[in-house]
Amino acid sequence: MFKIALSAGHYLKTAGKRCLKKLDKNETREWVLNDRICDKIEEKLKAYDGYQLLRVDDTTGATDVSIANRCKKANSWGADFYLSIHHNAGINGGTGGGVVAYTYTNVDVKTASWQKELYDAIIAKTGLKGNRSTPLAKANLAECRLTNMAAVLLECGFMDSATDVPVILTEEYADKLATACVEVIVKKGKLTKKVVVEQPTTGAVYRVQVGAYSVKANAEKLVESLKKDGYDAYITT
Ligand SMILES: [Zn+2]
Repeated sequence: MFKIALSAGHYLKTAGKRCLKKLDKNETREWVLNDRICDKIEEKLKAYDGYQLLRVDDTTGATDVSIANRCKKANSWGADFYLSIHHNAGINGGTGGGVVAYTYTNVDVKTASWQKELYDAIIAKTGLKGNRSTPLAKANLAECRLTNMAAVLLECGFMDSATDVPVILTEEYADKLATACVEVIVKKGKLTKKVVVEQPTTGAVYRVQVGAYSVKANAEKLVESLKKDGYDAYITT
């Protein structure tokens, strides 16, 4: 069972964490954007088996779960991978930006490969490459430092970039980004596609032909066992 800890960065009311007003009149909060992507990751993972997922933030956005507590939850739960979703700032209304994937300063090969595969998949799907000189960054970020497992923090575009904001506000962008994350999680976590068994509509009648291409004795045996199970009324030979 592959265990994923998922964190939507900050909470709804974290001061300052929002889109720049002149680029987004709603000043969309960072947590709202982070949470939308996390929800989509959760939803898309439901098509797979072989994993467990723990949201370490408050999914209502109402309370601020501290970074230390998020990491503590993931550590005590025994997560195999920790993914934190954020949106960046620092461009002040200029252009450029793009996606940046962070790990802690000193990481093993496994964590570095999560970082690279996530970044590559996201850029391939969304095209939000931006202009950062080190989009595969290493930094002393608490969420990466305090977690015991492979951890990646994604900055999914700049909330104060004239080029990023119109993109990151769209549902389509969030959807593509979540799809990219899920693809990487499925591959690296060795998740399997769920087998969907179609349930017949109530009252539907199906005609099943037995023995057309099989050995007569086998067909007769099947008919006998169906009769024994009480299906005589439905059998025509
Ligand atoms: Zn953030």
